This record gives sequence, structure tokens and C-alpha cells, in this order.
Amino acid sequence: MSEIEIPESHPRYESLLTRHRIETGVEKGITSQQGLIAQGRGETFDYLLGERTLSSADEAARVGATHLLRAKRPVLSVNGNVAALVPEETVELGEAVGADIEVNLFNRTPERMEAIATHLREHGAESVKGLEADARIPGLDHERAKVDADGIHAADVVLVPLEDGDRAEALAATGKTEIVVDLNPLSRSAQSASVPIVDNIIRAIPNVTAHARELRDSSADLEAIIEAFDPKATLADAERAIREGQLEGM
Ligand code: ATP
Repeated sequence: MSEIEIPESHPRYESLLTRHRIETGVEKGITSQQGLIAQGRGETFDYLLGERTLSSADEAARVGATHLLRAKRPVLSVNGNVAALVPEETVELGEAVGADIEVNLFNRTPERMEAIATHLREHGAESVKGLEADARIPGLDHERAKVDADGIHAADVVLVPLEDGDRAEALAATGKTEIVVDLNPLSRSAQSASVPIVDNIIRAIPNVTAHARELRDSSADLEAIIEAFDPKATLADAERAIREGQLEGM
């Protein structure tokens, strides 16, 4: 039995675990009400994908890992859904690629910022950025633009999972390499990313970490991995899989 008292062999185990974590996130003041809606949207796409990682998403995860390993200042952006769903996994990825973690909220309140930072520390984060908010992303209104000067603002590579479209576009416009995790291949976030990973964050973050560990210890040509990647082809493959659907056994 696991944290939701359902055997891991249950066919909808991952989906039920995800819902449970989001519900707990809301109870703890980590996840917003809008976060519940975002979760519902994501779940629909995941259902249509057969709740599996496409090989194109796996390739994108490998390319994302490559960017993070090569980065001078990589940052992992965390919002209320990410904190509720994959806190420990995000800390592990940060350690594997040497990235900072920054809390970055669409609906920013001091209470939620603090609750998420505490939650991340409880899951092993040594330092959490985002609370200073001493810099701005150009092109966004004041509240939505807030970031840390020595965090996202100075980063060359940023992982932004489940991000709002406006902010993903504004961040991409600053010239940073943006890695997005989003189950909707048509969302503006996925469309504006240098590396869109169309997969459930529950599977995607541990997968990026696994690729990073493997690449770190290998002699793979990182430049060549990045060069060969086509974000449009990844998005097209995910859209095709969702439209065609293969729901047998679900
Ligand atoms: P956009 O503004 O980018 O066009 P949006 O308004 O739908 O899209 P939000 O609802 O703010 O954006 O963002 C949530 C996004 O995250 C949605 O595209 C949703 O499919 C996706 N999402 C939700 N839960 C998950 C999850 N567990 N894993 C991956 N993606 C998810």
C-alpha cells in the first residue's frame, strides 16, 4: 500500500495519487483553487495519451537534461502544483544538475510563497529562491513579473513546468532556454518552449533526472543531442497521439 492506500497495481493508481497530492496541496495552502482546474485539464490530456510517456517526450526529457547540465545558471521554477506533486523529485533534479530552485507563482501571496518554500525544505531543499522578488520579467504586469535577481532573472536555462502561457512567452522572449513540462501540446507554454516535454510532471521530472545522471557519467556529445532536437516535431507527435488515442484497457 502507498500514501493513498491503493495498491500500486491499480490501473488508475498514478491518476489517483496525483489527485490526492493536489488535494493535500490545497489543504496545506500550497496549491491554489486555479491549480485544481489546471490539474483537471492536465488529467484529460494524460488520459488521452494513455497515461504513458511517449518516446518523443522521453527524447525531449533527455534534451532538457542536456541543457540543464550544460547551463551556467540553471533554475527550476516551482509553482503550487509542482510543489504538491513532485517536491522531492524536484530537489533531486536540482542536485543532479546543480540547479537552483525558485518558487514562482501566478497568484502570488506571501503565505503561499512561504508555505511552498517550507514544503520544499521539508523535502530536502537546502536553499529556496523566489522570496526576494528583487527583479522583474519584462512584458508582464507587476505582480506576475516578480522573480529573484540572482535566480530566474540571471538564469540561462529555466525549467518551467505547468506554467501560464503569458509568463512562459514573456520568459522565452528574454532569450533564456526554456524547458516546459505541459501535457497540452497546444498550450502557449508548450509552443513557446525551446524544449517542450509533453508528459505528466509526475513522470517527467524523475525521467529528466535519470537522463541527467546517465549523461553526466557518459561521453555523449551534448551539443549534438541539442542540435538534433526539433521542438515542433515533438509537439506534433504528442498532438497526433492525443487525437488518435489508444485507450484500450483504460
Ligand atoms: P496557456 O495559457 O499556456 O495556453 P492554460 O491557460 O491552459 O494554457 P494553465 O491552465 O494555467 O494554462 O496551466 C496548466 C497547464 O498545465 C495546462 O496546459 C495543463 O494541461 C498542464 N498540466 C496540468 N497538470 C499537469 C501535470 N500533472 N503534468 C503536466 N502538465 C500538467
